[in-house]
Amino acid sequence: MNTSRSLVFATNNAHKLEEVRRILAPRQVLSLNDIHFHADIEETGNTLEENSRIKAWAVFEWLKQQQLDNIYDIFADDTGLEIEALNGQPGVYTARWAGEPACDANNRKKALKELEGISERNAKFRTIITLIQNGQEQQVVGEVNGFIAQKESGEHGFGYDSLFIPEGYNSTFAELPAEVKNCISHRARALAQLTKILK
Ligand code: IMP
Repeated sequence: MNTSRSLVFATNNAHKLEEVRRILAPRQVLSLNDIHFHADIEETGNTLEENSRIKAWAVFEWLKQQQLDNIYDIFADDTGLEIEALNGQPGVYTARWAGEPACDANNRKKALKELEGISERNAKFRTIITLIQNGQEQQVVGEVNGFIAQKESGEHGFGYDSLFIPEGYNSTFAELPAEVKNCISHRARALAQLTKILK
């Protein structure tokens, strides 16, 4: 039944969209632009789970108003970086850690500043994906453990990629080819769970 439905990724983040399309290829993934959804969705939740849910339901409700909810499956991704030495910060505040408006470069600077003089640099990325099919919600999680580097390196990726060294590697996500990140990342792991549900 699900195979005839189109899949919509509820994000305004072009980097996430590109990653998700590469990981799920050849399955077609529609963007918010593709369905002409142009509203901003406020992330008012206190957890990644809540924010992921808020994004997916906002798009579902909008489609429902137009009686289009029965032809799309919608999913949203909320991702956080959790640094052990900082008691799991920035967590749900990962996007706006250095203040508004959200700025990846300032966020990375803040991460390095907060960890100045700290040798214990364990961290993890956590992605929560919320899928809504026929008004029914399911959530899946993907995690990757790693470390925060002493300085930024690498040109690939986005966000905190130039600071995050995944466990078992000596390079940051931004130094690794996209194909490697897209095999082992938090997002890839969450999407593997999503794919199982969609099959
Ligand atoms: P959100 O999930 O869109 O709220 O993004 C949270 C924050 O995490 C933003 O600052 C993103 O740039 C960052 N982020 C999300 N996914 C990744 C990733 O795969 N690598 C590095 N940073 C990421």
